[in-house]
Amino acid sequence: MQKLILFCGPSGSGKTSLVHHFLQNYPAFTFSVSATTRSQRKNETNGKDYYFFSVEEFKNKIAKNDFLEWEEVYPGKFYGTLKSETDKLSESGKVVLFDVDVKGGLSIKKYYGERVLDVFVKPPSLTELKKRLVARESETQESLEKRLAKAGLELNYVDHFSYIIVNDDFKKTIHDATVLVENFLIE
Ligand code: 5GP
Repeated sequence: MQKLILFCGPSGSGKTSLVHHFLQNYPAFTFSVSATTRSQRKNETNGKDYYFFSVEEFKNKIAKNDFLEWEEVYPGKFYGTLKSETDKLSESGKVVLFDVDVKGGLSIKKYYGERVLDVFVKPPSLTELKKRLVARESETQESLEKRLAKAGLELNYVDHFSYIIVNDDFKKTIHDATVLVENFLIE
């Protein structure tokens, strides 16, 4: 039975770094590349980090029922998991890692049930989260504010997840996540 691992939590919580850590260190893991309408960042590759679409292209795919789940994560910015992606990955036989928002994560959890390890990655505080987002230099003032507002809402969902990791020390976070992942894999 194929297994799937879900790291959810606010933008800046460290979940993407966690996903990268596992991809680099576990050859049997692969990443579910999401679709998005947000603009591509300097360090991102189309088809590897995301499939970058226009809003029109994204909406056409919604109309065709191409998504397993999708969310308007920020006003006017759509993100979603394509069925074609999860179908392709289920054929690969690899363990699939997801980096999605909280609502998307709950949809995936509902869809795959017991096959999913669902982990909420929590920032130590909103102040620390803001510091990280500012240091990342990926956001404008406006998008920073949207991300912080969204983070406040996402933190309300923490109890819907089976496991919580507070990411205040990334080394410890990696250790805690590794324990969860390895226990899940031998179950
Ligand atoms: P970012 O713009 O920082 O890459 O991502 C913003 C948020 O969208 C993050 O919380 C990220 O996990 C989430 N996200 C990325 N891909 C998907 C997806 O396919 N579906 C959903 N629902 N959220 C996603």
